[in-house]
Amino acid sequence: MAKDHFVSQIADIETDFPQWYTDVVVKTKLVDYGPVKGTMVIRPYGYAIWENIQRELDARFQAAGVENAYFPLLIPMSFMTKEAEHVEGFAPEVAVVTHAGGAKLEEPLVVRPTSETVIGHMYGKWVESWRDLPLRMNQWCNVMRWEKTTRPFLRTSEFLWQEGHSVFAEAAEAEEETLNMLALYKEFAKTVLCMPVLTGRKTEKEKFAGAVATYGMEAMMHDGKSLQSGTTHFMGQNFAKAFGVQFTDKDGTLKYGYTMSYGVSTRLIGAIIMTHGDARGLILPPPVAPVQVVIVPIAQKKEGVLEACKALEGKLKAAGVRVRLDDSDNSPGWKFNEWEMKGVPLRIELGPRDIESGKLTLFRRDTCEKEERPLAGAEESVANLLHEISEHLYLKAEKRMRERIVPANTLEELLAGVDGNFVRAGWCGERACEDRVKEFAQATARVMDGVHDTKTCVCCGKPAKHTVFFARAY
Ligand code: ZN
Repeated sequence: MAKDHFVSQIADIETDFPQWYTDVVVKTKLVDYGPVKGTMVIRPYGYAIWENIQRELDARFQAAGVENAYFPLLIPMSFMTKEAEHVEGFAPEVAVVTHAGGAKLEEPLVVRPTSETVIGHMYGKWVESWRDLPLRMNQWCNVMRWEKTTRPFLRTSEFLWQEGHSVFAEAAEAEEETLNMLALYKEFAKTVLCMPVLTGRKTEKEKFAGAVATYGMEAMMHDGKSLQSGTTHFMGQNFAKAFGVQFTDKDGTLKYGYTMSYGVSTRLIGAIIMTHGDARGLILPPPVAPVQVVIVPIAQKKEGVLEACKALEGKLKAAGVRVRLDDSDNSPGWKFNEWEMKGVPLRIELGPRDIESGKLTLFRRDTCEKEERPLAGAEESVANLLHEISEHLYLKAEKRMRERIVPANTLEELLAGVDGNFVRAGWCGERACEDRVKEFAQATARVMDGVHDTKTCVCCGKPAKHTVFFARAY
């Protein structure tokens, strides 16, 4: 059987999720391994997902009034050392250029792991008066963080992302922007990735190197582990002081600005795969799917079949649907399996009998169910179904996350609950207890809940200052 043959190419999602992930990303041609260990090649099918993510997110940034710019890949080594926590945090994973043009460089150059330093330097040049503020820019680029263990999309030495950087006159404005961008990410995750997330402030231990406060959005993957899917940071005046981002205020006094930054990366592709995928392979949310609808002709050599398929393809294209007609000479069964594995949200089957009766058969990848609809007005049926699929994917993932958040009062309860779940528990705020949880249960504090209603610390039993979501994380 063609189908069994196909499914057997992917490891079982329930018993070997890591291998399932690797099989899926490689076999659906999202990605391949680069010649340098830890690097990845994003192939056209994967890159098209990234382009859809970019387009959707960029439209939101533009609407919020953020401007795009581009800053250099190479950063003087001395910049990295200007903010003490920043250099300490990033030193172990920076790649450094020491030679160029056949000679040793006077000052080594860092391949950007993130751009707070170089953007801080430029903002220091550009900001003079209160009239120059706020400055709100974003760049789409690659960054490099040398990683020892790597996995496509989740952790690679080089990855693509956006990084937004803003400077404001007032602390409250920068803090507000930090929360606004977190809310923007959450809405984007829901609407475009069909992915529910938990958002909240990170603990001191988990915050960005050099930030005053970091906020994160965490998504629950198929195996119940957490994937940090985006972060926003309030820097206070740390980077402004390190890079001389000063302005003359209305009253004539010289003040330091307040900065913040935010980013999401190609990691989001990994998040989509591990949130929605099933035993057959990928399930792509319609808003980011490179192919939203595939048309598979049945008995395509019969007179009129291909013509009808092409006419339908043209109609859907005109309606703005990303549609592909698979008129290759593979069997329909082979095509079904191929496009199911590749996660195409909707499949249309059209054969002589359908054409004769004025119907078409639609297969939904999210439910794996078939339904018949009239051939006339197919554009409307498709648009409605794509919308339904998006909603269903979100609700399904949201239900899973809700059902898999469990409470714990003690370390033992936390350990018993954390396998496949997020554990919501009290925390006294002490680093020692956070470290103990990591050691005892291999779980980390993902984010602190905005609602604090727990009484005692899950570790030491003292009064809880925060309510935290603990989980094992990618
Ligand atoms: Zn404690």
